[in-house]
Amino acid sequence: MNKIEHIGIAVTSLKSAGEIYEKLLNIAIYKTEEVLSEGVKTAFLQTGPNKIELLEASNPESPIAKFIAKKGEGIHHIAFEVDNIRAEMERLKNEGFVLLNEEPKLGADNKLVCFVHPKSANGVLIELCQERK
Ligand code: ZN
Repeated sequence: MNKIEHIGIAVTSLKSAGEIYEKLLNIAIYKTEEVLSEGVKTAFLQTGPNKIELLEASNPESPIAKFIAKKGEGIHHIAFEVDNIRAEMERLKNEGFVLLNEEPKLGADNKLVCFVHPKSANGVLIELCQERK
C-alpha cells in the first residue's frame, strides 16, 4: 500500500460539517459527489497531501446512517491507496482478512474501492482505493 489516501468522517449534515471543516482547515471543499450505490453524499477537502472525506447518509439504509445510529459522528474509515486493487485484495484474503466486497466497486473521487471488515483490523474499517485510469 502506498499511503493513506484519505480519512473518512461520518457526519449527520454535510452542510454544517462542511462549514466546520472549511473553517478548521481554512480551505474550501473542492468536490462534492453522491455515490448512489453506497447511499452517501461526500465532500472532499485537501490540506497539503492529505484528504478528508466527509460522508452523509443519503437514505436511512445507508451504512453511514447505521454507523451514526450506533456510534455517533466521527472517524468512519481510513483509506489506503494501492496500485493494483485486485492483487491487494487477493493478498489480504490469503492473509485471512475479511473483505466486504468480492469485486472492486466504483467509489467516490474516480476510485475503485474495496472495504476490509473492521473485525479484521482491530475495529477500524479499512478502504483500499485505486485511481481509475
Ligand atoms: Zn473513503
